[in-house]
Amino acid sequence: MSATSRTTGLRALDARPCRAVVFDFDGTLARLNIDFVAMRSDVLKLTAQYGLAAETVCDLPALELIDRARATLAAVEPSRAEAYRAAAHTRIMEIELAAARAGELFGGTRELLVALRKRRIGTAIITRNCLRAVRTVFPDLDQFVDAAISREMTPRVKPHPDHLRTALAVLSAPPDGALMVGDHPLDMQVGREVGAFTVGVLTGSGNREGLTRAGARCILASAWDLLDLLDRAGQP
Ligand SMILES: [Mg+2]
Repeated sequence: MSATSRTTGLRALDARPCRAVVFDFDGTLARLNIDFVAMRSDVLKLTAQYGLAAETVCDLPALELIDRARATLAAVEPSRAEAYRAAAHTRIMEIELAAARAGELFGGTRELLVALRKRRIGTAIITRNCLRAVRTVFPDLDQFVDAAISREMTPRVKPHPDHLRTALAVLSAPPDGALMVGDHPLDMQVGREVGAFTVGVLTGSGNREGLTRAGARCILASAWDLLDLLDRAGQP
């Protein structure tokens, strides 16, 4: 990011009191290394076993693919639709839990969350991952964040805005007093759509260009650098 765009981001942040920070989890606060290609391939195989052609689910990510396939099945074979959905989610969860067992929180994550709490800034995690996987990596999360909204806890996952809005409602924070921090373009997309200040971090799958294109107002090397960003923006 150029010095000019960074300064513009800081000015924008300076103009709003930061009351809440909502974090993505994988790639932002923790390293999980979920194999999304293998996950999608497994789900596609299962979908084919239920007689649905790959064309019906085209390029959708695994979670949206399951929803689309389940709806298609429900229209013709309602009795098999829920069985399909349950089997697909079981497979996804197996992959997520295996990644979580080998995963770890980034160094400094707990300290960062404590520092934000000391500043009276509410914190939440929103993730497309399941809660069991998040708790496997971060078993004491309740002591450090005010809310963790996994995919089971929202009717529609990010990039749908409901996911972030759910977290902000729990934190009683308005969108224009919130930061959305994540490593993936969809985190920037959901933050922008809801009206939060978007901060991209380079500790996960996204790169500077992709995050900026998706709407990042500011790019940081890591979530830890958020404290410095708040200091430089004159936030308390
Ligand atoms: Mg992520």
